[in-house]
Amino acid sequence: MNAKKLIIEALKDQQEIFGDDLFEQLKFEPEKPVYKSDEPEEKIISEKNFLVKSTGEDMTSNLFQEDFEKAETLEELYDKIHDCTKCPLSETRTKLVFGAGNPNADVMLIGEAPGAEEDKQGEPFVGRAGKLLTDILKAIDFAREEVYIANILKCRPPNNRDPLPSEVEKCKPHLMKQIDLIKPKAILCLGRVAAVELLGKKLTLTKLREEVYELNGIKVMATYHPAALLRNPNWKRGCWEDVKKFRKLYDSLIGKKNV
Ligand code: SF4
Repeated sequence: MNAKKLIIEALKDQQEIFGDDLFEQLKFEPEKPVYKSDEPEEKIISEKNFLVKSTGEDMTSNLFQEDFEKAETLEELYDKIHDCTKCPLSETRTKLVFGAGNPNADVMLIGEAPGAEEDKQGEPFVGRAGKLLTDILKAIDFAREEVYIANILKCRPPNNRDPLPSEVEKCKPHLMKQIDLIKPKAILCLGRVAAVELLGKKLTLTKLREEVYELNGIKVMATYHPAALLRNPNWKRGCWEDVKKFRKLYDSLIGKKNV
């Protein structure tokens, strides 16, 4: 590995633990375009009032619902978003990575975004990190087919950079719809970015790993991303402690006693 690559890997490790605070000044967000509505705001509001008054119910919630939000199954959701162009990542992706696993899973695993191999294959967590994830699951008695695996972003950010807030804003609703359809009992976030974006809590991974959170009635925990464990095997022990706790939490949720 050349020196530049080593420095980048070391910085990524620091970022995994401490978050973006050390890197904040290096981040650039492209300027947001300003969209102007053709209709004056007043007119839009009065049309909304008219719909509510004339029907007796607020039909505007349906009216302003995005098409994908109407999906009733994961297949329908996939059909509605597989050619999504809501953010610029659609221009650089090879394949959209929707998610994979049991559509009725009690457990969901959520990462931040597809990497190079995932982008090529259209599957989440493949390659070395994916194999390690399968092994971690096996160690706590979950088969990979039993759980559902997805990411905050469905398309790969160039050079595996962190997702931009604008990309998360556009793509996270897809994940929330998946969660809504699958209705898991527990979610394990893989890596700081996934946990921060899912929970909306800007904390370090060390802090995030300490707590069990709740999102829409679903228990949520966080641990290291398998790719980070490959870069820094010293974190494997911490990950092992986290996933044992996660298994215990899951068992308590399904009423299984630990022996
Ligand atoms: S990352 Fe999400 S919002 Fe952006 S193009 Fe892909 S599916 Fe659409």
